Amino acid sequence: MTLITSLRGFKDILPDETVAWRQVETRARLIFARFGLREIRVPILEKTELFSRGIGDATDIVEKEMYTFTDRGGDSLTMRPEATASVIRSYLEHGMYQSESVSKLYTMGPMFRRERPQKGRYRQFHQINVEFLGSEDPRLDGELLFMLVFFLEDLGLPDLRLEINSLGCPACRPAFKERVREFLDSSKGRLCEDCRRRLDNNPLRVFDCKNEGCRILIDGAPAILDSLCGECEDHFTRLRGYLKALGVDYVINGMMVRGLDYYRRTAFEVTTTSLGSQNAVAGGGRYDGLTEQLGGPDIPGIGFAIGMERLISLIPDSNLGLNESPLLYIATLGEDALDFSYLLSISLKKEGITTEIDFSDRGLKSQMKRSNRLGCRFTLIIGENEMTLKKAELRDMKEGTQRSLSLENPAELALELSRLAATADNDPGNNNIRNNN
Ligand code: AMP
Repeated sequence: MTLITSLRGFKDILPDETVAWRQVETRARLIFARFGLREIRVPILEKTELFSRGIGDATDIVEKEMYTFTDRGGDSLTMRPEATASVIRSYLEHGMYQSESVSKLYTMGPMFRRERPQKGRYRQFHQINVEFLGSEDPRLDGELLFMLVFFLEDLGLPDLRLEINSLGCPACRPAFKERVREFLDSSKGRLCEDCRRRLDNNPLRVFDCKNEGCRILIDGAPAILDSLCGECEDHFTRLRGYLKALGVDYVINGMMVRGLDYYRRTAFEVTTTSLGSQNAVAGGGRYDGLTEQLGGPDIPGIGFAIGMERLISLIPDSNLGLNESPLLYIATLGEDALDFSYLLSISLKKEGITTEIDFSDRGLKSQMKRSNRLGCRFTLIIGENEMTLKKAELRDMKEGTQRSLSLENPAELALELSRLAATADNDPGNNNIRNNN
């Protein structure tokens, strides 16, 4: 029979990789908690209408990329292509705005977009999403951007570049859209088919087009920053002031409009030169007005999404130091010693010691090899003699030293092993465990 394989663009995250994933998630939780964020978990499946209304019908995501299907009850459902719409749906549905003036929420999980798979671009990918709801104060934008950059720098990401822009608001954007439409209308024939259609629905989408011909045309287009109304101008100026005061470096990119319809005023991306064409590791913006579009009261908000796959591919190996190797390997000689050690290993696990043992009746040499391969710090060698004397030799696999330990009491043995491991970890030469506090 043929082997069943995974879907194109859908990737397994294998045990060797999940260590890094967990480390990033743990780090995110720690830093986000410091900034007062709380976790929210929302469903993967939502009503299609949530995204067509929330993200916008004229966006690439809604037009071409959603995994939408009719379920057996006849409802149109969609696997979420992004998290913001779902988080806001939940925020509104549960009336969170009634009990707190500002809600700071984060969520992590898979998103689904039927894009053309390539390096760094998948059909199921993962994001860390952050949403600050309840205030339009540019201080909040500043804090959110500071936290994002702080988090990425903390993970050791090289060559980060924060690009910011202001996309205006309903007071100034329509006039800007008109200017862009007029500008592009004369060269309509040189635009790609998609952009010709975009010109009627939403000319700002042309800024996102990857087609080389469209890119050349758009390069000379009017800049949104020249069309901002007084309030948007003031918001953007104050945000830049706060970023400066917080020591966050940024560059202004007037061409960045982001792919979604809901952004207003602040829009941003964090890019790095190490990613090539898919260079955005995170992106987001302000979406005042989205809550109303989803049927709720008018509540301003700002958020971002970090792409986990890209993030992890950028973290230097030296910063991914979580050691998940078992602490102890018990090498056994003979069937009786194996039975004895089997019970001992379970007792040690109960006491909190990760212990590995082999049932395959291999020789001592190959057991030692396996202990080494697994990266176990210690190996205990147990044969007939050790069982009788209730004493065994503990080999420190790193130092090559050996000491005798009593097997009389598993709890005491566990304590002794923890003590030895802690001494080893405090040794500056030991880089096993990265300090996560
Ligand atoms: P977006 O929700 O489109 O603003 O994307 C936010 C971040 O998610 C991007 O900067 C990427 O890092 C990541 N991302 C978006 N689409 C994909 C994809 N198809 N595959 C992998 N990562 C993605």
